[in-house]
Amino acid sequence: MRRVVVIGGGIAGIQASLDLADRGFEVHLVEKSPSIGGHMAQLDKTFPTNDCSMCILSPKMIMCADHANIKLHAYSEIEEVSGNFPEFKVTIKEKARYVDVKKCTGCGDCIAKCPVKVPWEFEEGLVKRKAVYLPFPQAVPRKVTIDGDHCRTIQGKKCGVCKKICQAGAIDYEQEDSIVELDAACIIVAIGFELMDASVMSQYGLGVCKDVVTSLQLERILSASGPTGGHLTRHSDNMEPKKLAFIQCVGSRDAHMHGYCSSVCCMYATKESILAREHAPGLEATIFYMDMRATGKGFQEFVSRAKQNYGVRYIRSRPANVQLPAGGNGVLVNYETSGLSGESVTEEFDMLVLCPALIPSKDAGKLAEILGIDLDEDGFIDMPDMARPVDTSRKGVLACGFVSGPIDIPDSVSQASAAAARAAELVDGGDR
Ligand SMILES: Cc1cc2nc3c(=O)[nH]c(=O)nc-3n(C[C@H](O)[C@H](O)[C@H](O)COP(=O)(O)OP(=O)(O)OC[C@H]3O[C@@H](n4cnc5c(N)ncnc54)[C@H](O)[C@@H]3O)c2cc1C
Repeated sequence: MRRVVVIGGGIAGIQASLDLADRGFEVHLVEKSPSIGGHMAQLDKTFPTNDCSMCILSPKMIMCADHANIKLHAYSEIEEVSGNFPEFKVTIKEKARYVDVKKCTGCGDCIAKCPVKVPWEFEEGLVKRKAVYLPFPQAVPRKVTIDGDHCRTIQGKKCGVCKKICQAGAIDYEQEDSIVELDAACIIVAIGFELMDASVMSQYGLGVCKDVVTSLQLERILSASGPTGGHLTRHSDNMEPKKLAFIQCVGSRDAHMHGYCSSVCCMYATKESILAREHAPGLEATIFYMDMRATGKGFQEFVSRAKQNYGVRYIRSRPANVQLPAGGNGVLVNYETSGLSGESVTEEFDMLVLCPALIPSKDAGKLAEILGIDLDEDGFIDMPDMARPVDTSRKGVLACGFVSGPIDIPDSVSQASAAAARAAELVDGGDR
């Protein structure tokens, strides 16, 4: 049987699916949210080249949807797995979208008329979406989804506006979850990561000071398709900031939170500083860091360019806390300068960006239980054999991308291709 189930449709799951499909395998790609794309779809540009993230990702997403050997199960989750390599039995739950995807044309008429607004996950809560929505403009599949928890009709109230407006007759409030059962020789897990809730470190003011945002929120603010159309503005008064600060390691490398390094923050803070300066000429960017971890190809040069060409100031210090200035706009950052003569400094910034610990997807534990695989002490998937670096603790179940531990996009892609090659090797009998 040359069938593989890939769980998670971020860049890692997409790459593994494409590689296997091109080798003639039948791939079932299972993605929890209504569209594939993962976090890479939220990024504006990518370090260290500052290439446009969607320009790289979008063609791969479309290839996935159009590939004859890939069956996409978006808005779906794994319910159960039984059997063993090479004869797993996988049960997939396809959640009700309350929309007939065969009829929906993605025209958006229903979205325009829907009266309900809720925080938009893709825009990191910076703006609102409707109860019937497309997760983002380049979504694949380009089909709307009705959020049953917020739709008035589904909640038993009076509305029905989307059904009236839909000329394709695609709205179906009675739709139910459906179950797909299939056999698969191998399973690849690529469910990625999420950001730690940085508001739990209340000393940094997220959720209290309006001008404190997370790094992923800043990605959306910097993006031309984001909530501000790519204009760098702060929340309290829509002013363009002149002084922007980043605090690294918010919850990473912290014995009280997450002991490990999140690996990509030094580089993305450098990238976001450069981009912010390009959006707002004259802006002064400051990065508070513990150690600069610029270990990849071209990374140190990227940091040097940020310093020399964009005037980015790197201060080796872990700020103690932030406070709201008297006027209520911006933030006061309290930190100590490095070295033996370290002095206590309070400096005002117009806007502050927190770089929270990147933690395993919240589904990792449940999925590991369903799959019968081990997690490591930080909750990422355990890959116990150094000589088989994409194998989990169970034969035939492989993993790639951020779910295996903090890694950037190029490494996620390499690992995904390795997982696809390993699956092909196992299935075609070349296992050593
Ligand atoms: C602010 C920020 C900026 C960054 N900038 C860069 C950069 O410039 N360059 C760079 O190289 N890296 C950057 N990164 C890192 C980059 O985002 C990751 O390396 C990359 O997204 C990892 O891809 P992934 O597919 O492993 O995970 P993800 O992108 O997290 O994708 C995982 C997918 O799995 C899905 N999923 C989750 N649970 C389930 C489930 N139970 N069932 C099915 N599907 C599920 C998710 O919905 C998602 O679609 C940045 C990270 C952050 C936070």
